[in-house]
Amino acid sequence: MAKNIYSQPPDISAGDLIASNKWGTFFGISQKTLDSVWKSLTVPAGNSVMYISMEIGADRDVFHPVMTKLRELGITKTTNEMLNHFVNLFLHGPTKIPNYGGGLGILAGDTLKSFADLKIPVVGVSLLYRKGYFSQMVDSQVGQISTATDWSPENTPSLYLLKNPENPELPLEIEIPFFDKQDRVISARAQLWLKMEISSNLDYFVPEILLDFSIPSSPDWVRAVSQTLYDSVSDEAKAIQRRLLGASVMPVMETMGLTAKTLHLNEQHGVIVVLNIIAQWLEKKIGPNFREKATNQDIINAADVAAKKIVFTIHTPVKAGHDRFPKGLIAHLGHAFCQKALDLLAKDEEFPESYNFTRLAMRVNRTTNSVSRLHKEVTCKQFPEFKDKITAITNGVHHLTWISDAKAELYDDFSELKNWRQDPSVFANAKKLMTSSTFRSYFSQAWLVDTEKLIDYINTMLIQHRIQMHETWIDPPNYLSHLDEDERPLDPRVFTLGFARRFSTYKRADLIFDDINILTDIIVTNNYPVNFIYAGKAHPQDMPGQTIIRQILNIGKELYEKSNGLAKLIFIPGYDMKIAKMMVSGVHAWLNSPKRPLEASGTSGMKSALNGVPNISTMDGWWVEGYHNGQTGWKFGYESDVENACLSESPDTLLYEQDSASFYTVFPKILRSFYNRDSDDLYINKSIANLALNCPIFNTHRMAAEYVSRYDLQLTAAVSKKIEKLQKIYQSDR
Ligand SMILES: *Cc1c(COP(=O)(O)O)cnc(C)c1O
Repeated sequence: MAKNIYSQPPDISAGDLIASNKWGTFFGISQKTLDSVWKSLTVPAGNSVMYISMEIGADRDVFHPVMTKLRELGITKTTNEMLNHFVNLFLHGPTKIPNYGGGLGILAGDTLKSFADLKIPVVGVSLLYRKGYFSQMVDSQVGQISTATDWSPENTPSLYLLKNPENPELPLEIEIPFFDKQDRVISARAQLWLKMEISSNLDYFVPEILLDFSIPSSPDWVRAVSQTLYDSVSDEAKAIQRRLLGASVMPVMETMGLTAKTLHLNEQHGVIVVLNIIAQWLEKKIGPNFREKATNQDIINAADVAAKKIVFTIHTPVKAGHDRFPKGLIAHLGHAFCQKALDLLAKDEEFPESYNFTRLAMRVNRTTNSVSRLHKEVTCKQFPEFKDKITAITNGVHHLTWISDAKAELYDDFSELKNWRQDPSVFANAKKLMTSSTFRSYFSQAWLVDTEKLIDYINTMLIQHRIQMHETWIDPPNYLSHLDEDERPLDPRVFTLGFARRFSTYKRADLIFDDINILTDIIVTNNYPVNFIYAGKAHPQDMPGQTIIRQILNIGKELYEKSNGLAKLIFIPGYDMKIAKMMVSGVHAWLNSPKRPLEASGTSGMKSALNGVPNISTMDGWWVEGYHNGQTGWKFGYESDVENACLSESPDTLLYEQDSASFYTVFPKILRSFYNRDSDDLYINKSIANLALNCPIFNTHRMAAEYVSRYDLQLTAAVSKKIEKLQKIYQSDR
């Protein structure tokens, strides 16, 4: 475990870790912290932000400040019964909240954690999915098998069912209206959970309000579609989920007295909230009959008022990420007035019979952020009429979550990096360590610890899969599980390349296997063994994505045989934050091969950069900013200009041949620099350059500071000073 997590020696006893208010009793913070954060979120004038996201990913097995504190203080039980319950739960309770599908949710979680660390008054809103996101099993023949995820919010640390202050025996509920075709109201009801993202010093927190519609007082069809994140069995299920998120925002604020002045839409999923703001404003101006009386101009004026409250982050140029819904479907769910507003604000030029919710979000906001510099160019091309308000805030990752324990200990040991936990900008000093032979050698040792951890995990998994083969009908996904002569097939000293992300066609997971003969030639000719480690899920409705998983599985045997056993391909099922952290820190290089410019940002490469692991990537997303002329890794692939033509995802435009050929020209150089380490060891230079050049930039503290400049908040002098310092490091929107 990492030491020195806190700059001050511990001075808290378990009693300071518990606090109550009218909503419930919470663990991990003091009463003073609870009261002051709650006050900041409810001041009448409004001085906070509500962050609205379809998913939030923040598993405790990768970041757990309260558990760390309990261990540090050596608290295992206390005499107080209530305290004991919490101590037990936090030390031994489940570590997963499967309320995320991938990058978008993890970014949301990382962002909220940084807001907590920086003491920015923010409250998150999302749904609580009783069946989470699907769990992935993998069979070598069938490919991905998806099953429901079992978890229980009732026994999950840092998650609390809120009490109704009027009747504390009952949970706090909100009601949101749906409308049938005759505009009769059908109510959906949710009980409210609160999840806390507590700062690493336990002196601040960001609450997330999670809406649980799986309660008996909601209609069956609402309960059904609110169980699983991104349930898209039908357009209707999808549209209802979106509505549940967006239409809940105002009722949550009213019920809890939250006074956020700015609403931040993390992707357009919750954009329905703008219709509520429009309706509220028109009602105030025109009166209770506003639905009938409002003219088109009234609605447009109201939209301009609503826009002043909204900050919108757009996350992808890919069509599947943009929400469109048939007009008839919306007529079935919303009031006639909704359709009138959508006719004005959500026109879809390409599909006139649909509403385009991405367009609605683009239209009604005061600023739109794209998630990298290149993505800003792409977004301006896609939405030229909104060009003037599109800016860039390049994504980051929460450094305290993603830096491995071994690397964290190493960083703690060098005074050049002092205070890196509070202030990731100090990583710029790592350039002074470039010539330190002590640092270089400790760095290699820490890296080896991380690689061994990953390789151990894989070797154990391969054995388990082999046993499973005899006990279940699942055929192990990896060819190596079928070779039973060697019990520990992978070696941590072998060059290990990692690739893990959502499987969708433009990410081209199978790109580097486009010509197995060339690839194995490189490996065999030089006698350079390679471990290829893969992981990732494809959405259950994404058939092409699942086909790519099957293709990866099929390659294992051929690759092994053609390389005389030098190339080993491993697929790790069930990609989640824990596996991600092991992979990004344990591999020797991180591969990213999307078709430029379709990867808006990408974040897993940033996680590896924070661990000093170089990237090998096409010039897409964040890598355009993180590549630093090759100091931090390698590039390959076609560097097209941003034209509408290159936004296509159709198979014939994915440039497999061209970009894989480019990969085959750089790959031998990478292997050579890994295996032929001489006295000046170019490989470690790249690692240290990642610490010096990329760590200060690609973290969510810097990103959050850039967002604060869009939020219009009054902050204390101490907080402002810290934010200003972070803002000076980097301006994404230059
Ligand atoms: C970081 C992360 C992602 C997103 O990675 P990208 O590179 O942005 O695709 C997805 N899933 C998990 C579990 C992650 O940790």
